[in-house]
Amino acid sequence: MLKLPAALQAFANALKDRGATLYAVGGCVRDALLGRPVHDVDLASRLRPDELLKEAADSGIEARIVQQTLGTVVLTVDGVEYEHTTFRTESYGAGGAHRPDAVRFSDTPQVDAFRRDFSVNALYESVSDGTLVDPTGGVKDLERRVLRTTTADPAQILRDDGLRILRLVRFAASLGFSVDPETRKAAEENAALLEDVAWERKRQELDRILLGPRVYDALSMLNGLGALPYVLPELCACDGLEQKKQYHRYDVLTHLFHTCENTPEDLALRLAGLLHDVGKPVALERDGNMYAHDLDGARIARTMLMRLKYPAALADRVAETIRLHMFDLTDEASEATLRKRFAGFGRERTRDLIAIREADVRGSGIKTGFVAERWRSVFDAMQREGAPFSESELKITGKDVMKELGLPPGERVGKIKRKLLERCAVHPEENEKKLLLKRMHDYA
Ligand code: ATP
Ligand code: MG
Repeated sequence: MLKLPAALQAFANALKDRGATLYAVGGCVRDALLGRPVHDVDLASRLRPDELLKEAADSGIEARIVQQTLGTVVLTVDGVEYEHTTFRTESYGAGGAHRPDAVRFSDTPQVDAFRRDFSVNALYESVSDGTLVDPTGGVKDLERRVLRTTTADPAQILRDDGLRILRLVRFAASLGFSVDPETRKAAEENAALLEDVAWERKRQELDRILLGPRVYDALSMLNGLGALPYVLPELCACDGLEQKKQYHRYDVLTHLFHTCENTPEDLALRLAGLLHDVGKPVALERDGNMYAHDLDGARIARTMLMRLKYPAALADRVAETIRLHMFDLTDEASEATLRKRFAGFGRERTRDLIAIREADVRGSGIKTGFVAERWRSVFDAMQREGAPFSESELKITGKDVMKELGLPPGERVGKIKRKLLERCAVHPEENEKKLLLKRMHDYA
């Protein structure tokens, strides 16, 4: 049973006296039954928004309508917000864009359950006494650990909202459930409905998939269902693209999925891992080899991320990591070279590159000695020694350079600062004003 605050239970008891049962519904009931942590509680009852507002006012509970047509009201109890929706049915026109043409309020969970996607997401628990209502066989599916649509006709559910195909992938991965064969077949047959779904909504689900558990399985399922062309179309050309056997066990797409799973749990790194070789098919087509695929990949990834409406700063960070991901691939750069490059990259980019290199090597499926350990130890040493990671961390400014050398503002000043940064990356103890003022004469 869910643990809910006493004030919410008291409110539910008051509603019960007026003939309306208040239910917790959806993910919270599912997760509580599975013994998983519950992060937010959604509520439902037969009360229309204005009726609920009146009852809340009578019980001294703060409430406001957030969505009149869908009947959504937010209740605030002990500082926590609960979204309440009135039981309803929805009907949809053609296409998968999830714009109901008609919403009709209803009086029972038995009706409301069938507008929801999966049976395990359509469980209702009475807030006042914990009674469970299970109109679609969700409890049995929880026990079998299976995702199955709420209605006997899975195609209908998936057709009403194409995004449900991505939700299926997300829940399968996050819960570790299998997919009922009929539901799976309908998802395969209807994957093209994702074409109609707004990119923002697809991105939200993609984020949850990438930051959840079992990322490799989820991405493979996404591809297996035929959903990839509608989410990450440029990756399709990587499917089945073979690579040199001495470096790679997998084709490019499989390698990308493994690399993604091997990155730390950070959205930019997951995306960089997933897309870092997306330029390979284009490079191969153009030159017959994969040489400039880092540059192609950075450009293509940026296009993909902007299409998915990611913030520009995130797209930049991912694209830069991809552009640089081939740096020192053979692990032969000297320590001095590594220090100079890392100082030029800055801390965040260096950290990103190390993470991607580690994931890339692990994702190749080939055992090699090199997993960026030396990069990491050089980077750690630089940080321990207090090495500067940008020109602004030097103990002199551009003005100091101009004054000391009698130079006008311009490119030369920048070049000298760059040289000083590289010098201090290798010799962090030289980052002192007096020493730098002397040293800059060597570079003038
Ligand atoms: P999570 O633990 O990820 O929050 P959840 O089951 O609570 O999972 P939400 O996206 O928060 O998922 O939605 C709450 C409930 O609303 C779901 O359990 C489901 O019943 C219903 N729901 C949400 N989005 C959809 C949708 N696109 N189609 C059908 N039902 C949906
Ligand atoms: Mg939820």
